[in-house]
Amino acid sequence: MFVKKIGIDLGTCNSLIFVAGKGIVLQEPSVVAVSFADNKILAIGNKAKEMIGRTPEAIKVYRPLKDGVIAEYRIAEAMLRYFIRASCGRFSFFKPELIVGVPAGITSTERRAVVEAGISAGARSVYVAKEPVLAAIGAGIPINSCSGHMIIDIGGGTSEVAVISLGGVVTWHSVRTAGDKMDSAISDYIKKKYNLAIGEQTAEEIKIKIGTVLPEEKEQYIEIKGRDLISGLPRTIKISSNETCEALSEVMSEIIQSVKQVLRSTPPELSADIMDKGMIISGGGALLRNIDQLLAKNTGVPCFIAEDPLLCVVKGAGIVLENLELYKRSIMSKR
Ligand code: ADP
Ligand code: MG
Repeated sequence: MFVKKIGIDLGTCNSLIFVAGKGIVLQEPSVVAVSFADNKILAIGNKAKEMIGRTPEAIKVYRPLKDGVIAEYRIAEAMLRYFIRASCGRFSFFKPELIVGVPAGITSTERRAVVEAGISAGARSVYVAKEPVLAAIGAGIPINSCSGHMIIDIGGGTSEVAVISLGGVVTWHSVRTAGDKMDSAISDYIKKKYNLAIGEQTAEEIKIKIGTVLPEEKEQYIEIKGRDLISGLPRTIKISSNETCEALSEVMSEIIQSVKQVLRSTPPELSADIMDKGMIISGGGALLRNIDQLLAKNTGVPCFIAEDPLLCVVKGAGIVLENLELYKRSIMSKR
């Protein structure tokens, strides 16, 4: 009973932690700033994210996860240790047990890296659970019922589409096209159309503030600053929401293709269930305006946005922690 149980959504963009009995205690960007001069970590989370695109040569900002898996092992481990300490307290006597969400298509080597990073970051044991299943649980889908449910999780690095029935993943597909690609599509568009270079953070800001995936009658505008590619000087321009729609069309069609591919490979009984109940979108990408309508229009299947889409995976991990007996068999894989 003294063992602390914590659930972690170790995302490409954001990491979240759920502590059993307490709820969600941490939500920070998965970003680490390292100083080369003394080989030290300068900042982790929000503070490190602010440094992106603003560092001198001796500082490098890392995003240690790529496409949902660990790309920079040492840095991911340091980040995980920091997050675990921040949520359990530095002097916690008992080592915690972790449940970490991982992509459905993770390889065994990638899974081992997650487990090892968790152990060396101070965990007593590490279980991994598939993210689409956790996202579905967090979105309130009764995953253990014998009925098909479709979940689409659009994060920073990957969009994962999965059909779940009886507590397990039946069919799934994942593309490495998600929030980050949307940001670069927006900055490429602005570069081409206005000869203006903008930073990663500005592109994300445009997407979050006015981004839409269907053209709107009443457009929204935002003023942004960048560097003119011809004169080299700073310049301000105004961007409209319909321009973001144009910029995002290619990225969205890749995500739609992935959804269609899963629908095509789904057994007919489950397709019928999905047609009845619709598909659920989670992850930060679900917050992009009109994404539900775009997906419904292109697939003919009703589409709903989960409540608090950014929290689905970690909430799901929390529900699993607090009802271990109910879920243990179906979703946890060995440590
Ligand atoms: P991950 O699981 O990969 O860490 P998240 O589910 O946390 O990803 O989602 C992060 C992504 O969602 C980022 O690309 C971010 O820009 C995007 N995002 C966050 N809020 C919004 C919004 N309101 N509209 C569109 N995209 C958003
Ligand atoms: Mg995620």
